[in-house]
Amino acid sequence: MLTGAGVSTDSGIPDYRGPRSGRSPVQAPGPMTYQEFVSGAAAQQRYWARAHIGWGRMSQAVPNAAHHALRAYELTGALTGVVTQNVDGLHEAAGQGQLVALHGRIEQVVCLGCRTLTDRAQLHATLSALNPGYAASRTGATIAPDGDAHVEDTAGFVLAACERCGGPLKPDVVFFGENVPVERVERSYALVGAAEALLVLGSSLQVMSGLRFVRRAAKDGKPVVIVNRGATRGDDLATVKLDAGCAETLPALLA
Ligand SMILES: [Zn+2]
Repeated sequence: MLTGAGVSTDSGIPDYRGPRSGRSPVQAPGPMTYQEFVSGAAAQQRYWARAHIGWGRMSQAVPNAAHHALRAYELTGALTGVVTQNVDGLHEAAGQGQLVALHGRIEQVVCLGCRTLTDRAQLHATLSALNPGYAASRTGATIAPDGDAHVEDTAGFVLAACERCGGPLKPDVVFFGENVPVERVERSYALVGAAEALLVLGSSLQVMSGLRFVRRAAKDGKPVVIVNRGATRGDDLATVKLDAGCAETLPALLA
Protein backbone atom coordinates (compact mmCIF):
# COMPACT_ATOMS: atom_id res chain seq x y z
CA MET A 1 0.00 0.00 0.00
CA LEU A 2 1.29 3.42 -0.99
CA THR A 3 -0.58 6.51 0.20
CA GLY A 4 -0.36 10.18 -0.73
CA ALA A 5 -1.95 13.53 -0.01
CA GLY A 6 -5.37 12.43 -1.32
CA VAL A 7 -5.79 10.22 1.77
CA SER A 8 -5.59 13.28 4.03
CA THR A 9 -7.75 15.78 2.12
CA ASP A 10 -10.81 14.65 4.09
CA SER A 11 -8.92 15.50 7.26
CA GLY A 12 -8.77 19.09 6.03
CA ILE A 13 -5.21 18.96 4.70
CA PRO A 14 -5.19 20.15 1.09
CA ASP A 15 -3.45 18.40 -1.79
CA TYR A 16 -0.83 20.20 -3.88
CA ARG A 17 -1.92 18.77 -7.18
CA GLY A 18 -5.37 17.22 -6.85
CA PRO A 19 -8.46 18.87 -8.36
CA ARG A 20 -9.57 20.07 -4.92
CA SER A 21 -6.46 22.14 -4.55
CA GLY A 22 -6.99 25.89 -4.71
CA ARG A 23 -3.42 26.50 -5.77
CA SER A 24 -2.64 26.43 -9.43
CA PRO A 25 0.84 25.15 -10.30
CA VAL A 26 1.17 28.09 -12.67
CA GLN A 27 0.41 31.05 -10.39
CA ALA A 28 1.07 29.81 -6.87
CA PRO A 29 4.49 29.11 -5.41
CA GLY A 30 5.32 25.45 -4.84
CA PRO A 31 6.94 24.14 -1.68
CA MET A 32 10.37 25.45 -0.76
CA THR A 33 13.22 23.30 -2.05
CA TYR A 34 15.98 21.96 0.16
CA GLN A 35 18.54 24.06 -1.70
CA GLU A 36 16.55 27.22 -1.03
CA PHE A 37 16.06 26.33 2.64
CA VAL A 38 19.78 25.85 3.31
CA SER A 39 20.69 29.00 1.33
CA GLY A 40 20.50 31.12 4.47
CA ALA A 41 18.54 32.86 7.21
CA ALA A 42 16.22 34.80 4.88
CA ALA A 43 14.81 31.61 3.33
CA GLN A 44 14.52 29.98 6.75
CA GLN A 45 12.71 33.02 8.09
CA ARG A 46 10.29 32.81 5.16
CA TYR A 47 9.80 29.08 5.69
CA TRP A 48 9.26 29.16 9.44
CA ALA A 49 6.96 32.20 9.40
CA ARG A 50 4.64 30.42 6.97
CA ALA A 51 4.99 27.03 8.66
CA HIS A 52 4.27 28.60 12.04
CA ILE A 53 0.85 29.60 10.81
CA GLY A 54 0.25 26.32 8.96
CA TRP A 55 1.10 24.28 12.04
CA GLY A 56 -1.89 25.57 13.96
CA ARG A 57 -4.18 23.80 11.53
CA MET A 58 -1.97 20.78 10.78
CA SER A 59 -1.69 19.90 14.45
CA GLN A 60 -5.47 19.83 14.84
CA ALA A 61 -6.14 17.42 11.95
CA VAL A 62 -7.46 13.98 12.89
CA PRO A 63 -7.55 10.70 10.90
CA ASN A 64 -10.52 10.23 8.54
CA ALA A 65 -12.47 7.18 7.31
CA ALA A 66 -9.62 6.18 4.96
CA HIS A 67 -6.98 6.07 7.72
CA HIS A 68 -9.30 4.08 9.98
CA ALA A 69 -10.24 1.68 7.16
CA LEU A 70 -6.56 0.96 6.50
CA ARG A 71 -5.90 0.22 10.16
CA ALA A 72 -8.94 -2.08 10.29
CA TYR A 73 -7.74 -3.78 7.10
CA GLU A 74 -4.33 -4.31 8.65
CA LEU A 75 -5.94 -6.03 11.63
CA THR A 76 -7.49 -8.61 9.29
CA GLY A 77 -3.99 -9.61 8.18
CA ALA A 78 -4.66 -8.82 4.52
CA LEU A 79 -2.66 -5.59 4.55
CA THR A 80 1.03 -6.21 5.10
CA GLY A 81 2.21 -2.62 5.28
CA VAL A 82 1.76 1.02 4.34
CA VAL A 83 4.32 3.31 2.74
CA THR A 84 3.12 6.90 2.98
CA GLN A 85 4.33 10.05 1.28
CA ASN A 86 2.38 12.11 3.82
CA VAL A 87 4.15 13.88 6.66
CA ASP A 88 1.01 14.69 8.67
CA GLY A 89 1.26 11.73 11.07
CA LEU A 90 -2.39 10.71 10.54
CA HIS A 91 -1.64 7.03 9.78
CA GLU A 92 0.31 6.94 13.04
CA ALA A 93 -2.62 8.60 14.84
CA ALA A 94 -4.98 5.94 13.43
CA GLY A 95 -2.72 3.26 14.93
CA GLN A 96 -1.25 1.86 11.69
CA GLY A 97 1.33 -0.74 12.70
CA GLN A 98 3.55 -1.59 9.74
CA LEU A 99 4.30 1.87 8.36
CA VAL A 100 7.10 3.70 6.57
CA ALA A 101 6.79 7.50 6.62
CA LEU A 102 8.86 7.94 3.47
CA HIS A 103 9.14 11.72 3.71
CA GLY A 104 9.38 11.96 7.50
CA ARG A 105 7.02 13.62 9.94
CA ILE A 106 6.15 17.27 10.32
CA GLU A 107 5.94 16.74 14.10
CA GLN A 108 9.70 16.45 14.39
CA VAL A 109 12.40 19.06 13.96
CA VAL A 110 16.04 18.37 13.11
CA CYS A 111 19.03 20.64 13.74
CA LEU A 112 21.12 21.00 10.60
CA GLY A 113 24.20 21.54 12.79
CA CYS A 114 24.16 18.62 15.24
CA ARG A 115 21.23 16.51 13.84
CA THR A 116 19.45 16.50 17.22
CA LEU A 117 15.74 15.73 16.87
CA THR A 118 13.25 17.78 18.86
CA ASP A 119 9.51 18.08 19.19
CA ARG A 120 7.68 20.43 16.85
CA ALA A 121 5.04 21.36 19.42
CA GLN A 122 7.83 22.59 21.69
CA LEU A 123 9.34 24.67 18.87
CA HIS A 124 5.88 26.05 18.08
CA ALA A 125 5.57 27.29 21.67
CA THR A 126 9.03 28.89 21.44
CA LEU A 127 8.19 30.59 18.11
CA SER A 128 4.86 31.79 19.52
CA ALA A 129 6.69 33.41 22.43
CA LEU A 130 9.26 35.01 20.09
CA ASN A 131 6.54 36.27 17.71
CA PRO A 132 3.55 37.30 19.86
CA GLY A 133 0.35 37.84 17.87
CA TYR A 134 1.94 36.78 14.56
CA ALA A 135 -0.32 33.78 13.88
CA ALA A 136 -3.47 35.35 15.33
CA SER A 137 -3.31 38.20 12.81
CA ARG A 138 -3.11 35.80 9.85
CA THR A 139 -5.84 33.23 10.46
CA GLY A 140 -7.18 33.48 6.88
CA ALA A 141 -4.04 32.07 5.25
CA THR A 142 -4.45 28.85 3.25
CA ILE A 143 -2.15 25.92 3.98
CA ALA A 144 -0.44 23.14 1.99
CA PRO A 145 0.07 19.42 2.81
CA ASP A 146 3.47 20.11 4.34
CA GLY A 147 2.01 22.71 6.70
CA ASP A 148 3.20 25.65 4.64
CA ALA A 149 0.90 28.69 4.70
CA HIS A 150 0.54 31.46 2.14
CA VAL A 151 1.94 34.53 3.84
CA GLU A 152 3.96 37.27 2.15
CA ASP A 153 5.19 39.54 4.96
CA THR A 154 7.68 37.26 6.70
CA ALA A 155 10.65 39.64 7.10
CA GLY A 156 9.95 40.46 10.76
CA PHE A 157 9.62 36.84 11.89
CA VAL A 158 12.05 35.89 14.68
CA LEU A 159 13.70 32.48 14.22
CA ALA A 160 14.55 29.99 16.95
CA ALA A 161 17.90 28.17 16.85
CA CYS A 162 19.01 24.78 18.20
CA GLU A 163 19.26 24.94 21.99
CA ARG A 164 22.26 22.63 21.96
CA CYS A 165 24.50 24.11 19.24
CA GLY A 166 22.77 27.23 17.94
CA GLY A 167 22.41 25.66 14.49
CA PRO A 168 19.50 26.24 12.11
CA LEU A 169 16.35 24.13 12.57
CA LYS A 170 14.50 22.32 9.80
CA PRO A 171 11.33 20.24 10.00
CA ASP A 172 12.44 16.60 9.78
CA VAL A 173 10.71 16.07 6.45
CA VAL A 174 12.18 15.41 3.04
CA PHE A 175 12.03 18.62 1.01
CA PHE A 176 11.86 18.74 -2.78
CA GLY A 177 15.44 18.45 -3.98
CA GLU A 178 16.41 16.30 -0.99
CA ASN A 179 16.88 12.51 -0.99
CA VAL A 180 14.77 10.09 1.03
CA PRO A 181 17.04 8.35 3.58
CA VAL A 182 18.26 5.01 2.14
CA GLU A 183 17.05 3.00 5.11
CA ARG A 184 13.44 4.13 4.52
CA VAL A 185 13.67 3.33 0.81
CA GLU A 186 14.94 -0.16 1.59
CA ARG A 187 12.21 -0.83 4.13
CA SER A 188 9.64 0.33 1.56
CA TYR A 189 11.04 -1.96 -1.15
CA ALA A 190 10.93 -4.82 1.37
CA LEU A 191 7.24 -4.17 2.11
CA VAL A 192 6.38 -3.96 -1.59
CA GLY A 193 8.47 -7.07 -2.28
CA ALA A 194 6.64 -9.08 0.40
CA ALA A 195 3.18 -8.06 -0.81
CA GLU A 196 1.08 -9.87 -3.42
CA ALA A 197 -0.27 -6.63 -4.86
CA LEU A 198 0.22 -2.88 -4.56
CA LEU A 199 -2.63 -0.49 -3.85
CA VAL A 200 -1.92 3.21 -4.43
CA LEU A 201 -4.22 5.65 -2.65
CA GLY A 202 -4.50 9.36 -3.24
CA SER A 203 -1.20 9.98 -4.96
CA SER A 204 -0.64 11.41 -8.41
CA LEU A 205 2.81 9.76 -8.27
CA GLN A 206 4.43 12.95 -9.51
CA VAL A 207 7.61 12.34 -7.55
CA MET A 208 9.95 9.43 -8.16
CA SER A 209 10.13 8.68 -4.42
CA GLY A 210 6.71 7.02 -4.76
CA LEU A 211 6.57 6.09 -8.44
CA ARG A 212 9.57 3.76 -8.14
CA PHE A 213 7.57 1.36 -5.94
CA VAL A 214 4.82 1.16 -8.54
CA ARG A 215 7.43 0.42 -11.19
CA ARG A 216 8.95 -2.30 -9.00
CA ALA A 217 5.59 -3.99 -8.36
CA ALA A 218 4.68 -3.85 -12.07
CA LYS A 219 8.09 -5.21 -13.04
CA ASP A 220 7.57 -8.12 -10.62
CA GLY A 221 4.25 -8.88 -12.34
CA LYS A 222 2.13 -7.87 -9.33
CA PRO A 223 -1.31 -6.30 -9.70
CA VAL A 224 -1.26 -2.53 -9.17
CA VAL A 225 -4.53 -0.84 -8.18
CA ILE A 226 -4.65 2.97 -8.15
CA VAL A 227 -7.38 5.00 -6.43
CA ASN A 228 -6.90 8.70 -7.07
CA ARG A 229 -8.82 11.76 -8.21
CA GLY A 230 -7.31 12.65 -11.56
CA ALA A 231 -4.52 11.16 -13.67
CA THR A 232 -1.34 9.74 -12.15
CA ARG A 233 2.11 9.02 -13.57
CA GLY A 234 1.52 5.34 -12.82
CA ASP A 235 -1.73 4.95 -14.77
CA ASP A 236 -0.10 2.98 -17.63
CA LEU A 237 1.27 0.50 -15.07
CA ALA A 238 -2.04 0.01 -13.26
CA THR A 239 -4.07 -3.18 -13.49
CA VAL A 240 -7.08 -1.25 -12.23
CA LYS A 241 -7.49 2.52 -11.99
CA LEU A 242 -10.32 4.09 -10.00
CA ASP A 243 -10.84 7.83 -10.44
CA ALA A 244 -12.29 8.49 -7.01
CA GLY A 245 -11.65 9.96 -3.57
CA CYS A 246 -10.20 7.82 -0.79
CA ALA A 247 -12.38 8.43 2.26
CA GLU A 248 -15.62 7.61 0.43
CA THR A 249 -14.23 4.75 -1.69
CA LEU A 250 -11.89 2.91 0.60
CA PRO A 251 -14.18 1.58 3.34
CA ALA A 252 -16.46 0.08 0.64
CA LEU A 253 -13.53 -1.19 -1.42
CA LEU A 254 -11.92 -3.02 1.49
CA ALA A 255 -15.24 -4.45 2.68
ZN1 LIG B 1 22.15 21.63 17.02
